[in-house]
Amino acid sequence: MAKDSQNLMEKIVGFAKRRGFIFPGSEIYGGLANTWDYGPLGVELKNNIKQLWWKRFVQERDDMVGLDTAIIMNPKVWEASGHLKGFSDPLVECRECHQRFKADEIKGFAAWVKSVKTKAALAPDKIPACPNCNTIGSLMKPKMFNLMFKTFLGPSEDSSSTVYLRPETAQGMFVNFKNVLDTTRKTLPFGIAQIGKAFRNEITPGNFIFRTREFEQMEIEYFIPEPDPENEASWRKYFDMWQMEMMSWIRDIGIRPEKIVEHDVPEGERAHYSKKTIDFLYEFPFGQDELYGLAYRTDFDLKNQEKASGVNLKYKSANKEEAPYWPPTIEPSLGVDRTVLALLLEAYAEEKDPSTKLGASRVVLKLKPQLAPYKAAVFPLLANKPELVALAKNVYNDLRKDFMVAWDDRGNIGKRYYSQDEIGTPYCITVDFESLEKKDITVRDRDTMKQERIKISDLLPYLREKICA
Ligand code: ATP
Repeated sequence: MAKDSQNLMEKIVGFAKRRGFIFPGSEIYGGLANTWDYGPLGVELKNNIKQLWWKRFVQERDDMVGLDTAIIMNPKVWEASGHLKGFSDPLVECRECHQRFKADEIKGFAAWVKSVKTKAALAPDKIPACPNCNTIGSLMKPKMFNLMFKTFLGPSEDSSSTVYLRPETAQGMFVNFKNVLDTTRKTLPFGIAQIGKAFRNEITPGNFIFRTREFEQMEIEYFIPEPDPENEASWRKYFDMWQMEMMSWIRDIGIRPEKIVEHDVPEGERAHYSKKTIDFLYEFPFGQDELYGLAYRTDFDLKNQEKASGVNLKYKSANKEEAPYWPPTIEPSLGVDRTVLALLLEAYAEEKDPSTKLGASRVVLKLKPQLAPYKAAVFPLLANKPELVALAKNVYNDLRKDFMVAWDDRGNIGKRYYSQDEIGTPYCITVDFESLEKKDITVRDRDTMKQERIKISDLLPYLREKICA
């Protein structure tokens, strides 16, 4: 990673901890590698992302319903979905330092394995070195490593009680397909959406919250009418619609589209069930990597869950001529934690404050107001004037019924502004002596730093309009 990029990542990790967005997991015990806890501000940001996603893709659409399914499912689900057999990464160990790596992340590894298999000679400088200890020729043959976490259901720890933590939320939607059809009378095309935790025993977690073993997904399984096998356009139009929806979401939450590459994943690199996949790659400081994925899963999942369970998961359309079928699925899959990381990177800025003569600099988190942990902060000008504090508390208590609002009565106003800028609070409200008389307050805008006087009675509609815009 280039020095500047590394600095930016270190800055974001330090900032996230200092201001209560994200803490290292189990920190008082020295931590637990690559686990992270969301702090008071992080949980607000994450909740705002999830609420916005739910509102946009479930609440405001006629063709969508939501679910919240169990993390631990019958293990037969994972047999049918292909995860027990195929959800594996090739793991390589170094004979010297005993570090383990994902084979496809080691430069030149595939060519070396091929040369060993075919007994073809490979130039000595092409033999891959261990990325940790640099020893050449110390890497062992790759072994397939299943990424699902195993545990036991109930008190006995034998194979009959083995269960798995779900590696994706998707299967919860497939196994409930019939329940949803029976209870909602949805007709194709329609989608099922779910937000929830997923678990993968990643070989190489890292880059802060980018790759962790426990993470959250926002997924949609969008079921479409049976496509015409002769006409790709019959499923492509739905796929294209979701590709556009995902780009609009990315833009609307405040990620610059120029930082995104839509990568058409070639055959051979796609998941076993996918006929087409687009990865939305974001330019992270450590390189371009997957933010979100969009996959055409065909009818693979419903077909296999029906075969394994014996329960009919076919869709019967109103058209009596049409035979029942497994509707194919388009899957927009979004990681919540990668969204948080991309948003922190996009929003974090250090800039000179043009409003001060000394040219002081400030850190400002330019999050969209809808996503900001606090929508406003309320300050009494002076903490030792009870009448100011009382009026400010009234304003604060009124606003809190509608928004997350911060209270700060310490230090000078300039410092309080900077402190709120740093955590992304879009509006700061100061109650001063004039407020007592005129029943108005000062609202200061985070981005423009401009201030205006607003009547206290107009404050709520004023903020509502600005925040929901
Ligand atoms: P990668 O190639 O980075 O391992 P993937 O292609 O396996 O990701 P998907 O199975 O498509 O990921 O999962 C959907 C989304 O879930 C990803 O686009 C990402 O946002 C998120 N995600 C997947 N794995 C992780 C992880 N280990 N940590 C955090 N988020 C993840």
